[in-house]
Amino acid sequence: MDIHEYQAKELLKKFGVNVPRGGIAYSPEQAVYRASELSGDKWVVKAQIHSGARGKAGGVRICSSEEEISDAAQWMLGRKLVTHQTGPQGKLVSRLYIEEATNIAQEIYLGFVMDRKLERVVVVASAQGGMEIEEISAEEPDSIIRSVVDPAVGMQNFQAREIAFSLGLEPALIPQAVKTIIGCYQMMWEHDANMVEINPLVVTGAGEIVALDAKVSFDENALFRHPDISELRDKSQEDPRETYAGDRGLSYIGLDGKIGCIVNGAGLAMATLDMIKMAGGEPANFLDVGGGASPERVLKSFKAVLNDKNVEAILVNIFAGINRCDWIAEGVVLAVKELDLKIPLVVRLSGTNVEEGMKLLKESGLEIETANTLAEAAEKVVGLWKASDETLAEAS
Ligand code: GDP
Ligand code: MN
Repeated sequence: MDIHEYQAKELLKKFGVNVPRGGIAYSPEQAVYRASELSGDKWVVKAQIHSGARGKAGGVRICSSEEEISDAAQWMLGRKLVTHQTGPQGKLVSRLYIEEATNIAQEIYLGFVMDRKLERVVVVASAQGGMEIEEISAEEPDSIIRSVVDPAVGMQNFQAREIAFSLGLEPALIPQAVKTIIGCYQMMWEHDANMVEINPLVVTGAGEIVALDAKVSFDENALFRHPDISELRDKSQEDPRETYAGDRGLSYIGLDGKIGCIVNGAGLAMATLDMIKMAGGEPANFLDVGGGASPERVLKSFKAVLNDKNVEAILVNIFAGINRCDWIAEGVVLAVKELDLKIPLVVRLSGTNVEEGMKLLKESGLEIETANTLAEAAEKVVGLWKASDETLAEAS
């Protein structure tokens, strides 16, 4: 789960990380008022969306008058900001963060990620901040410093000092840098975050180290341990299809294609996506119904898949071990009737109670195509989808 920049900064501040003073605003008037509460004669208006690269998209504006603040706020609020991380649909800006502007002498990259292979936190840093880490690794790969944290002891002073020295910071800045690195690590560790990215971490003209931007992402499986973090969730920034499915306890990930998928098991679901692509289609989603799925759960899965208005055909692929094909079939029949399904549907059942399942589908008298293998199912659904697309084109 992602949070907004200002929320990340509030958390980091509690752990001793230096951040600019700022305030949140929901209207241009409020933005101007927030700036008046801050000292200085330059302010930064920052769109709060769950995405980086806002600067290049116009979502970060340095202003030196009330008028400029008001104009920037007017332009940003209510806009769907498109960055190269949001996808073409963009993300809605409904709140702004107004900060006192910082005088930048140097921009540094500082990131903390949970490395799944190492099962440890890895610190990634570079003196070439300001660019994204992908650009840094393409253009200045030698500038990247990596340091693995031993979970038994956590981030130690000497390790943070080593990172700070590798960044080439002046001796006078080392204690502040150490405090920042340890603060970020502690915040991450105590909240079960899986990513903390400060880009840029800056050295100011006055010789201070300040986190100018902050991106933090949390492990959703650990949110039950952090009710205060759960409260920071902003559903307006998430894929509405995923929010809908997630709220109903389904494991669903939205994709860009037209063929909806209902599958059991993450591995089989991934293989199903591949097979649809090989057959010339594009999957609309990943959905794992899990084990022992009841007819009601299958119905819920259909609702989640159809909640995506782009879906033009559905493939159900079940390899039943713990699942029962008759329950799945019952759910499919229930869904087709209750949801008055009009788009092509292909069902492939295999495993426990497959005969009963197939019988239920056949005896329902509904227009449900069946298949024996995954390859056959994928080809059938793509074929039916293409045919229905042509029929639609002819009709219009
Ligand atoms: P991002 O584009 O979403 O990563 O947003 P950032 O918060 O990182 O801002 C983008 C860029 O704007 C930074 O890399 C800085 O170069 C610049 N910027 C942001 N805040 C300030 C500031 O207070 N002063 C100055 N001079 N530049 C800033
Ligand atoms: Mn940034």
